[in-house]
Amino acid sequence: MTGPFLPVCEPTLTGNEQAYVLDAVSTGWISSAGKYVTEFERSFAQYCNVPYAVGVCNGTMALHLALVALGIGPGDEVIIPDFTMVATAFAVCYTGAKPVYVDAHPETWNIDVRLIEEKITARTRVILPVHIMGLLCDMPAIEAIAKKHNLIILEDAAEAHGAEFRGRRAGSFGAISAFSFFANKNLTTGEGGMIVTGDADLFDRCRYHKNLCFPLSGGREYVHNDIGFNYRLSNLHAAVGLAQVEKADELRQMRRRNHARYVELLSRIPGIRFQKDDDADYLHVHWMNAILVNEGQYGMSRDSLMAYLRENGIDSRKLFTGMHRQKALHSYGCEADGYYPVSERLAAEGLYLPSSSHLSAEQIERVGNVILKGSSL
Ligand SMILES: *Cc1c(COP(=O)(O)O)cnc(C)c1O
Repeated sequence: MTGPFLPVCEPTLTGNEQAYVLDAVSTGWISSAGKYVTEFERSFAQYCNVPYAVGVCNGTMALHLALVALGIGPGDEVIIPDFTMVATAFAVCYTGAKPVYVDAHPETWNIDVRLIEEKITARTRVILPVHIMGLLCDMPAIEAIAKKHNLIILEDAAEAHGAEFRGRRAGSFGAISAFSFFANKNLTTGEGGMIVTGDADLFDRCRYHKNLCFPLSGGREYVHNDIGFNYRLSNLHAAVGLAQVEKADELRQMRRRNHARYVELLSRIPGIRFQKDDDADYLHVHWMNAILVNEGQYGMSRDSLMAYLRENGIDSRKLFTGMHRQKALHSYGCEADGYYPVSERLAAEGLYLPSSSHLSAEQIERVGNVILKGSSL
């Protein structure tokens, strides 16, 4: 090992996080009733350029709550990418609806918009695109399909805080959108999530269902007309979140700079490939620095490279296993034998490298040198 162990991702908490949490503690406002929750919601809505935001306890519940607000339930189908984090599919299952998978695009790794229409049935209600690794999906194409078939768009923007297409930010395309603030996400509260929407009715439905369906008028008669959830976000978490949003531009820039450094070091190594990057239309926020390893060209398999990195004190992770491979979803009644060649390849060849926002140029160089050395073994 040359230097201390390099983890895949750590939060960067160098702004007002401590001060705001201490303030929340010292004033006694630690539940979901507290000024940081409303300030975090307001500032994050503004960051996404969307009118309304609702803080929740994590990104998975944000997705579930959004589907509840849309009235999705048993008998409905929701189109999701096969290549995503399992929470996308599970959130659909919680409602009783069925997730239907679409393979990934070989360059963007996002849902392949050319394959969506063949999956639409009379039961389809929602298209749920996921902006993988912080690259926005082809939203104009998805909007056109949604319009043609009268479907609702719910964005899973858990990996894409601040990502842009022609200046429009992640979260501003869907009727409603869900974010995660898990510890490894571009903006974090440790655990936390947010729904953003431009629709006042959906906003109200989210606030209502997230809080046990207490009447929004604030009455405390303890008579409930619907079965609700407790998905509230605490003021302590929101205190961290507000400080993160204050630094959002800087954190986004750090993540993008790190990726550019990785590309510079690795893109000429045979058998190493990256996801599609920025162009004139897309601003990629690089949640994780992912690469594909072609064993034939690189000289080592993905798994061997991960072991080699570990021997050299560098952590890495495999990319997601496709939804069609998830036993839990087979048991639930989802498709088990479909053909998803791109998702299969991402799961077989993909890994992500250390990606904390605060990585130094030296740390990235250390990773790059190990991967370069690995190619000549
Ligand atoms: C992280 C993530 C989630 C879940 O967020 P949690 O806050 O961990 O519940 C959902 N979807 C995607 C694509 C994610 O990456």
